[in-house]
Amino acid sequence: MSSFGSNFATLAVHVGSEPDPLTGAVVPPISLATTFSQNGLGNLYGKDYLNSHGKGFEYSRTGNPTRGAFERAIAAVEYAKYGIAFASGLAATTAIIQCLNSGDHVICIDDVYGGTQRFFRRIVSPGSNLQFTFTDMTDPNSVVNAIQPNTKIVWIESPTNPTLKITDILAVTQAVKNVSDKIWVVVDNTFMSPYLQNPLKLGAHIVLHSVTKYIGGHSDVVMGALAVNDDEIYTKLKFVQNGSGAIPSPFDCYLALRGLKTLHLRMEASQKNAIVIANMLESNKTYVEKVIYPGLSSHPNHEIAKKQQNGFGAMITFFVKGGIENASTFLANLGIFTLAESLGAVESLAESPAVMTHASVPPEQRALLGISDNLIRLSIGVEHIDDLVADLQQALSKMTV
Ligand code: PLP
Repeated sequence: MSSFGSNFATLAVHVGSEPDPLTGAVVPPISLATTFSQNGLGNLYGKDYLNSHGKGFEYSRTGNPTRGAFERAIAAVEYAKYGIAFASGLAATTAIIQCLNSGDHVICIDDVYGGTQRFFRRIVSPGSNLQFTFTDMTDPNSVVNAIQPNTKIVWIESPTNPTLKITDILAVTQAVKNVSDKIWVVVDNTFMSPYLQNPLKLGAHIVLHSVTKYIGGHSDVVMGALAVNDDEIYTKLKFVQNGSGAIPSPFDCYLALRGLKTLHLRMEASQKNAIVIANMLESNKTYVEKVIYPGLSSHPNHEIAKKQQNGFGAMITFFVKGGIENASTFLANLGIFTLAESLGAVESLAESPAVMTHASVPPEQRALLGISDNLIRLSIGVEHIDDLVADLQQALSKMTV
């Protein structure tokens, strides 16, 4: 346990932001140097400095003080031994896939984020000898049934983007371990953030974040991160991080570290707004067909969400009555919600996954997953709840039903 104890808020504020040992600065310096002088051949400075992970500094792709500060912070809030930062969430995904060998097999949740699907289906599958099976994971047996002798990874996202499917992470990790302890279970924890869910505690081997979302929290940094406990997995990923080089800039690491310090406050405010909005939408039978939000008892995995999450988050998916015309009228009339991709920041956003974030998913696949033209995804921010409710109601009232 770190000297800051084990409470999320204290870890988020302090780990990685300890006063600078040289100057006492309470904000870590943005360290821009690309290279570091050596105290004699191979004798690196900084071995005692926490942010070098005991290795000293040599060249900034290999290790950078500001990145090291963020990596320690993300490890602390995921209750992990190690954090590893990347240039984007997808760069973190790429690094995991680069640990595989030709002929390996990956089992992936069917409703995985559209960009992850595009990477697996259209870049990795055709360009390598890796195989993918996409499956619903509501029943852990469907994961077990998909395991082959060459299966190396089970890829979970919970809740999924955008249909908010929830996987019982503990049940899946246990079922997989009963078959083989060599298969890595990866959990994309982007929608929950480390504040609301810690998959390593539920048996996962690797946690992935698009830091671009809740951790950054202010729509001003694109970045990714992994958190792991296992020394061997860490060594492989660290080797790929340096060897493939998809590292974030020191300035981005600084922004992410700053964002992380208020994650618990922003997430509490956002999810407090979200439950009010989810209830309002669910009770609006004139314009709304159906609402999906893990905090509603109507959500099919509400009980699992209660068991494995520390809250229900601030993403809401709902279906407007009618088709694409009504969806587009609703989105065009929003005033406070911004029509935009991405999620997890202080400002509320709305989008159409079928046309925007998930347009790269083949239409027949979208249909199977229920990503229809009348589906709207909301990312609830921290504005005043009365203004958000009024904005949604006036935009809904412009639709023709
Ligand atoms: N995982 C999820 C659940 C996402 O929503 C996203 C982006 O939207 C990613 C991964 C990819 O992250 P990035 O956009 O930072 O590459």
